[in-house]
Amino acid sequence: MKRGFLVILSGPSGAGKNTVLDATMDRCSDLQYSVSATTRPRRKSEQDGVDYFFLTEEEFQRRVRAGEFLEWAEFCGHSYGTPLAYIEECLEQGHVVVMDIDIEGARQVKDKMPEAVFVFLLPPTMAELENRLRGRSTDSDEAIRQRLGKALEELKAGIDYDYVILNDKIAKSAAKLEAIITAERCRVKHSEYFELLEDIVGRNRE
Ligand code: ADP
Ligand code: 5GP
Repeated sequence: MKRGFLVILSGPSGAGKNTVLDATMDRCSDLQYSVSATTRPRRKSEQDGVDYFFLTEEEFQRRVRAGEFLEWAEFCGHSYGTPLAYIEECLEQGHVVVMDIDIEGARQVKDKMPEAVFVFLLPPTMAELENRLRGRSTDSDEAIRQRLGKALEELKAGIDYDYVILNDKIAKSAAKLEAIITAERCRVKHSEYFELLEDIVGRNRE
C-alpha cells in the first residue's frame, strides 16, 4: 500500500478554511480530516471530538511533553495541536489527510514532512474578512480584533505555500481544492507505479 499524504490548509481566521474543507469533503468522501486538539473554549456550534478535542492547558502540555503532537502552536492566546497517532495511521493506510492549521504549525510540518501539500486560502478583501468574522458570530469583539491583527502577517506567509486559492465563492474554492488533490494523487511519487505496470504488461514481463 502506497503511503498517503497530507494536505495543509492555512489562511487568516475567517478566510473560510472550515467552510471550504467541509464543501470539499462533501465532494470527495475519501478524504480524512485531522481533528486538532485545542485549549480554546468550545463554541456553541462545536462538538468535542468532531470539530476539536477540547483540552485543559495542563492536559495539552502533558501531551506536548509526551510527543503526541505532529506540530503545535499558540494562536491568539490558546494552544492548538495535531495529534500524531491518527495522522500516522491514516498515512500508513494510504489516505489523504486534510488539516486546517495556522502558519506556525504549517512551518513545523514542512520541517518534519516536506512532502506534504501546502495550500493557502485568501479572503477577497480585508473588509470581507472582517464581515465573515463578524457574520460567523462565534468570537468576541476582542477576539475578532486579535484575529484581524494577525491577518496581514499571515497573508505574507502564503508566499511559501505550494498553492493559493482566492475564496470568493465557496463552491469554486472547493472545486479548486479538489482539483489540487486530484493532481497530487496523480503524481508518480504518490502512485503505485509498478503495480499499475503489472496490470498493464503483466508480472512476468517486468
Ligand atoms: P476559517 O475556518 O478560515 O476561520 P470559516 O470557514 O469559519 O473560516 O468561515 C468564516 C465565515 O465566513 C463563516 O460564517 C462562513 O460561512 C463564511 N464564508 C466562508 N467562505 C465564504 C465565501 N466564499 N463567501 C461568503 N462567506 C463565506
Ligand atoms: P479557530 O479558533 O478559529 O478554530 O482556529 C484558529 C486558528 O488555529 C486557525 O488559523 C486554525 O487554522 C488554527 N488551528 C486549528 N487547529 C490547529 C492545529 O492543530 N495546529 C495549529 N498549529 N493551528 C491550528
